[in-house]
Amino acid sequence: MSIRPILIHPDPRLKKVADPVGTPTDEIRALAEDMLQTMYDAPGIGLAAPQIGVSSRLLVMDCVKEEGAAPRPLVLIDPVVVWAADELSTYEEGCLSIPEQYADVERPAAVEVRWTDLDGAEMSERFEGLWATCVQHEIDHLDGKLFIDYLKPLRRQMITRKMQKLKRELARA
Ligand SMILES: [Zn+2]
Repeated sequence: MSIRPILIHPDPRLKKVADPVGTPTDEIRALAEDMLQTMYDAPGIGLAAPQIGVSSRLLVMDCVKEEGAAPRPLVLIDPVVVWAADELSTYEEGCLSIPEQYADVERPAAVEVRWTDLDGAEMSERFEGLWATCVQHEIDHLDGKLFIDYLKPLRRQMITRKMQKLKRELARA
């Protein structure tokens, strides 16, 4: 297992539509382990493969926040939203690829998602609350979409400029 570097926006690899995985291989299982380790280390509640430069439809998440509660690591391969609630909810979102930037994003308050697990089994679950927001945010990554794409252009450009500056600083360090 290893911690992978997380790509910082703007990066063309974050804008690509990722390829389906299909039947999980040992390589995919190893990748999922790395992604979970990278997510917990960051720390974050979700991570999609394109964020570590892998253009595959794979994401990991764990939105358990209660102090002392058991972790619930989820690995979703080829996830698809099959139902979304009419009711919307707003969360202040952030992203490991857009560090220290947060903004309110409105999304369906609940979604049902189908995916393949690491053993190749078909899974399905209805997510609510933070889990619903997180899974939609991560699936967006698989389609080359970032949470700042929901913001007004001016706000988006401001955040992008801050990230360009951050990347220049990181490159010099
Ligand atoms: Zn993100």
